Amino acid sequence: MHEIGVVRQVLRTVEGFARENNIDEVVSIVLEIGELSMVIPQYVEELYPLVARGTRFERTELCIETVEGRGVCRNCKRVFPIVKNEGYCPRCGKRDAEIISGRDFVIKEIVVP
Ligand SMILES: [Zn+2]
Repeated sequence: MHEIGVVRQVLRTVEGFARENNIDEVVSIVLEIGELSMVIPQYVEELYPLVARGTRFERTELCIETVEGRGVCRNCKRVFPIVKNEGYCPRCGKRDAEIISGRDFVIKEIVVP
């Protein structure tokens, strides 16, 4: 499970951002997690309070937005949700899609008072 490293990295990044901008308090951190990013939102949610404990982010809320993994079929050009269809194109049945969204993991927003 690499999510603990992911959460630590997020807090390091936000910490750096806060220091550079003289921000004392961060109300919430908004993460955008793609379905195909290999980061499991549920784990991030569970680990966050443990990693944040004893830091300035102890009371910072974590919000997670998931982004659907979508692909475009190389055969028939249909755009479809990858996870729901297990990678198979719902129109032609081929399993040959180019991923167009849902791969990224980003800190979308840092909310300050
Ligand atoms: Zn297709």
